[in-house]
Amino acid sequence: MFDPTTRDIKYLPGVGEQRATLLNRELNIYSLYDLLYYFPYRYVDRSRLFTVSEIDGRMPHIQLCGEIRSFEEMGEGASRRLVAHFTDGTGFVDLVWFRGIKYVKGRYKIGTKYIVFGKPTIFGGRANIAHPDIDPAETLQLSSMGLQPYYNTTERMKRSGLNSQAMAKLTANLFSLLPETLDETLSDSIIKRYNLMPLSKALKLIHFPSNVNELRHAEYRLKFEELFYIQLGILNYSKERNFKYAGHNFTKVGEMFNRFYHENLPFELTGAQKRVVREIRRDVNRCVQMNRLMQGDVGSGKTLVALLAMLLAKDNGFQACMMAPTEILAEQHYSTLCRMLKGLPMRVELLTGSTRQKERTPLLAGLISGEIDILVSTHAVLEDNVNFAQLGLVVIDEQHRFGVVQRAKMWKKNNIPPHVLVMTATPIPRTLAMTLYGDLDVSVIDELPPGRKPITTRHIFRNRIDEVYSFIEKQLREGRQAYIVYPLITESEKMDLKNLEEGYAQLCNRFCDYRIGKLHGKMKPKEKDAEMQRFASGETQILVSTTVIEVGVDVPNSTIMVIENAERFGLSQLHQLRGRVGRGAQQSYCILVTDFKLSDDTRKRMEIMTASNDGFEIAEADLKLRGPGDIEGTQQSGIAFDLKIANLAKDEQLLQFVREIARDIVDKDPDCSNEENRILWRRLAEFRRRSNRNWGAIS
Ligand code: ADP
Ligand code: MG
Repeated sequence: MFDPTTRDIKYLPGVGEQRATLLNRELNIYSLYDLLYYFPYRYVDRSRLFTVSEIDGRMPHIQLCGEIRSFEEMGEGASRRLVAHFTDGTGFVDLVWFRGIKYVKGRYKIGTKYIVFGKPTIFGGRANIAHPDIDPAETLQLSSMGLQPYYNTTERMKRSGLNSQAMAKLTANLFSLLPETLDETLSDSIIKRYNLMPLSKALKLIHFPSNVNELRHAEYRLKFEELFYIQLGILNYSKERNFKYAGHNFTKVGEMFNRFYHENLPFELTGAQKRVVREIRRDVNRCVQMNRLMQGDVGSGKTLVALLAMLLAKDNGFQACMMAPTEILAEQHYSTLCRMLKGLPMRVELLTGSTRQKERTPLLAGLISGEIDILVSTHAVLEDNVNFAQLGLVVIDEQHRFGVVQRAKMWKKNNIPPHVLVMTATPIPRTLAMTLYGDLDVSVIDELPPGRKPITTRHIFRNRIDEVYSFIEKQLREGRQAYIVYPLITESEKMDLKNLEEGYAQLCNRFCDYRIGKLHGKMKPKEKDAEMQRFASGETQILVSTTVIEVGVDVPNSTIMVIENAERFGLSQLHQLRGRVGRGAQQSYCILVTDFKLSDDTRKRMEIMTASNDGFEIAEADLKLRGPGDIEGTQQSGIAFDLKIANLAKDEQLLQFVREIARDIVDKDPDCSNEENRILWRRLAEFRRRSNRNWGAIS
C-alpha cells in the first residue's frame, strides 16, 4: 500500500540521495508525509507589482520588478554590509545584506531583470529592503499565479538550489503522486458540525491556494485539527489520572515543618507565599493526587515554598524529590536546601548523570530503605533502577523542559503516584500552560519579597562598550559588584568558552585595580563553589561567567548585570539573568550588549527587555514573537513546542474552542468505545507514537 508516512522522501521525483540528505538534516523531512506537512510560512500575492515611487515606509511585504545597477560594500566589522542599488525606472531602492555577501554578489547580476520581494523601510531618507528574496523576472506570471507559497529554507539548502521555489516544485510533485483523497483524520460529525474543509482539500490548498478565502478556510481546518488533538491527548491523560490515581494523604503539619518555620526561616513569608502554601496543603489532604503549577517571577521565592511542601511530605512519612532540568541547577538547589535545612535531621542527597557509581550504589539503597528524605536530581531520576520507599511528592523546576511523558514516568515509581508540584521561574503564558498541561491547577506568586527595586535596563551596541566599562567602574568604586555574562549555548562548546576567556583577559586589563572571578560549567563543582563564594563574600568584585549563574545565584550587593552578545539569548533567559541583580537595597542595572546588525526579532527582544520588568508580560511577548515557521532561535528561547501551523499567541480563541469540544468527547465517551469517535482515538494513538520525538525535544 502507498503510505506517505513511511515512504522515504528520496524516492520523490526531483529529490534523490543528495537532496534527501539535505532535507533530513536541515528540515527534519524524512518521509513524504513530512514534506506534505511542511507548510509555507507566507504567501505572496503575485497578482500585483508595486513601484519604487510608491514606497512609503509603512508597507507590508511587497514585490518590485527592476534591475540592479551596481553593488557597493560598506561599513566595517559588525556593520559591514553589501548594498545593491536597484531601480525600476521610478526611483532607487537599496537592497541590503549583512550576511552571505560573497554568495549574493556571485549570484545576482547587474542589469538582469529581477522580482524583488521584501519589506521596505525608509532610513536616512532612502528606501531600503534588508535581505530581500530575489527571483529572475521570467518566473513571474502575474495573473495566473494566485497566491504563491514561500517555504523557509536554510542557506545550505539554497546553495544547493533547494530554495523556496524548488520546495514548491517538490510539493507539487508530491501531490501528483498522492491519491485524490487522503484518509480523513477527523470524525464525520466534527467535520459536519464545525463546517471544516476535508483534509485532502485543506492540505492541497494550504500549499497552493488560489485566493485568500480558500487559504483561511484551509488554515482553519488544519489548525483546528492540530490543537484539537493536543487537547484531546492531554484531557485524556488527565482523565486517566483522575480516575485511576488516588493520592497520598498528608494529614498533618509536623515537627520538621514547624521547626524549620520557627527556627530556620530568617524572614517572614510574603502574603503570596503563604497563600500558595495554603493551596498546596489543601491539595495534599484530599486523597487525590495534587497536580499543581506554581508560577512566580524570578526571585519571588518559589524554592522556599517548595521546601515547605517537601517538609510536609517528610512529616507525613514520605520522601520528596526535586527535579531540575540541568545538573548545574540541581547542584544549586542541592546546596540551597542543605544550607536552609542546617540543624534539622533531614537527609538530602544529590543524584545526577555524573554521580559516580561508588556514590550511586549507597544512594540508591538509601532511597529504597527510605533513609533519604529529599533527593535532588535531574533526568537521572527517571531511570528504571532509581526507586523510592515512599515517594510522596515530586517538585519539578522549570517545567517547560519536561514533557507530559516524563511526568507520567514519575507517577509509575509507586503504586499511588506522588503529588506533583511544578515550578516555573519564567511564568508560562496561559495559552501555553493550557496546551502543555491541560488540567493543571495553577498557583501564582504575584508578590516579590519586600525591598526589591525595579531594575533599570539598557540596550547598548558593542561600539559603546567603553561607556559601559566606565559605568561599571563607578559602581565598583561605590562598593558594588558586577556580573558579566557570556553566552554558552551548549556546555561543551570550546568556541563559546573562548569568548569567555577573551572577555576575561580584556576585563583583567581594563579593571586592573579590581579582582575578577571566572565561572563556567566546565569547572569542577568544588572550584565553582569556591569561585562563587569569593564573589559572595566580596573578595572578587567582578564575576565573569557563562549562564551557569542563570538561576539560583544570590548576591544582593551585586548591582550590575552586563549580558554580552545579548542577541544570542531568548527573552526568558535574559529575564532570568537579569533576576540575578536587584536583590539588595541599591538601584540595579542590566545592560544588554549587542552587535550593530540585528534582526527585527532581536531588536524587538531588546525593546521588550528595556520596557518591562514583568516576567508574565515578557513570556507573552516571547510567544508572540515566535511563530510556528520560525526556524532560528527557538531552541534556546526556553519554550520549545513543535506546532506546524497553529500559533499559540494568535490562536488562543480557537484553542479554547477546541478544548471544549475535546472535553465534551472525553466526558461523553470515557472508555473510548463510541463508534463515531473511533477515528479520533486511533489517530490520537498514532499521533502519540509519532510525536515521541517531539516530546523528547521538550525535555
Ligand atoms: P525563585 O526561585 O522564585 O526565583 P528564590 O526562591 O530563589 O526565588 O528566592 C529568591 C531570594 O529571595 C532567595 O534569596 C530567598 O532566600 C529570598 N526570599 C524568599 N522568600 C523571601 C521572603 N519572604 N522574604 C525575604 N526574602 C525571601
Ligand atoms: Mg529559583
